Amino acid sequence: MLGDALISSGAITATQLEQALAEQRVTGALLGETLLALKFITEETLSRALAQQAGIPFVSVGDRVPHPAAVALVPEPFARKHLLSPLELAGEVLHVVQANPFDVLALDDLRQLTSRRVSATCATPVDVRMLVKRAYAPRAGGADRERPAAEVHEQETPAEMRLLERLVREAVSSQATDLHIEPDEKAVAVRGRIDGVLVACDAIAAAEYAPVLASIKTLAALEPSESSVPQDGRASVMIDGRRVDLLVTTMPTMYGEKVALRVVDKTKPVRALSDLGFSRKDLGVVHELLEKTRGVVVVAGPAGSGTTSTLYAMLAHVASVSKNIITLEDPVERQIPSIRQTQIRPKAGFTFATAMRSVLRQDPDIVMIGEMRDPETAQMALRAAVSGIVLLSALPSDDAASAVRRLTDMGLEPYLLSSGLVGVIAQRLVRLICPQCTERVTYPVKTLERVDLTLDPGVSFHRGRGCARCRGTGYSGRTGVFEVLAVDSAMQALIRDRADVRVVRQAAVQAGVKTLREDALAKAIFQQTTLEEVIRVGGL
Ligand SMILES: [Zn+2]
Repeated sequence: MLGDALISSGAITATQLEQALAEQRVTGALLGETLLALKFITEETLSRALAQQAGIPFVSVGDRVPHPAAVALVPEPFARKHLLSPLELAGEVLHVVQANPFDVLALDDLRQLTSRRVSATCATPVDVRMLVKRAYAPRAGGADRERPAAEVHEQETPAEMRLLERLVREAVSSQATDLHIEPDEKAVAVRGRIDGVLVACDAIAAAEYAPVLASIKTLAALEPSESSVPQDGRASVMIDGRRVDLLVTTMPTMYGEKVALRVVDKTKPVRALSDLGFSRKDLGVVHELLEKTRGVVVVAGPAGSGTTSTLYAMLAHVASVSKNIITLEDPVERQIPSIRQTQIRPKAGFTFATAMRSVLRQDPDIVMIGEMRDPETAQMALRAAVSGIVLLSALPSDDAASAVRRLTDMGLEPYLLSSGLVGVIAQRLVRLICPQCTERVTYPVKTLERVDLTLDPGVSFHRGRGCARCRGTGYSGRTGVFEVLAVDSAMQALIRDRADVRVVRQAAVQAGVKTLREDALAKAIFQQTTLEEVIRVGGL
């Protein structure tokens, strides 16, 4: 087939083909390779013919440079293994250039890996290798020599900034919430927190680290020469035309300063309440809480448990032009139209408490406070709520009962708290089983006992085997597990009496509140998550 095509296009003669076929019988090599080895055709002629046979366009690469957004989606080992290069990302379509136009399996894998539609063109292996090099090599200044003219604008950005931007771009595209840059004896490891778990994602050569660290410090307005004490600040970088904010902290370690970057991507859409993982019943209770015209609703959970997403979803739910909604946040993590969002700056003396004072003079209907950390803020919030404002806030605590206790421990008057607190939503995040590699799993009786289950033939559990899409973890994405407590008159009485945490917890269960663990277990039974995750979030 290939031979005929080459003859009919005039690339080779019939005699040359015969000669090549004879040679091929001896070596067992592919016909194309044999024709190349005999120098009857050039690599380009062969690639063109193969592309035509495969029915995909042949392209000359020239001085094209793969777009970082596309590069961020394709791991370098994958590109090298399959000899293909990411080229650009147009909406949901990832354009790649491959050397072997018949390698459709690679494209299938890529589709799964990136969750994007993939469109391929073909180029010569030499060109594809060059593209791969351009895609993944440009980190240090040394690579500049090989850079084509198209990248001149990039050369104006210092190499260390480009490297930093690349790391942040990767973090954003892989949905990482934090980046940790950790110097080691030999190299500097870069790890990202994806779905709540740290994943190794890159490494920087030790020699390249000092300028990167210096540029991070400059961006975040930290003291550049100070390396013996922890520092923290804020920075922002432009990634593909949009601003990504970073909360920067540095920490001295044995091998130098470690940097943690919290990625704040305000352009990420706010999720709907119904997408967060509430059971139908709990969602109904949350809606009722949000219909109230006064009172405090607390979202309780430790750091990284999704409380911020829930607060934003609640705000988006109540947002309307007829309501005056003000938020006090540190940092502002999402932007919601029709809401006035205020960035708290404790370092500049603009604290939650001072901001709260001025907000209350602005006649708000709903106020969201990022977190009630200090008694002064909590006190003001509660007084405001009693007087006719809906106040939403996060509170670091383990479950609904301990959130109530924590508020009492802050010194809030029990009578005020009992009338002001209308609801507590406690939450955690569990990882979702990767849909691509989910399979049935039988847990040992011991594991079932840990979650208070007996073997029931009617119930089956699943778990992810691990695949390319989930980076071998078996999980992809997360969902919330919730404990939603609406404060009723019985609960009010318990709060007034400063009842013990256990008593409050028991009363909640009696009132029909589903606990965090029960909600997590329900999600395992519905095969959304694993028993391991139930055990993890349940602290079992
Ligand atoms: Zn998987």
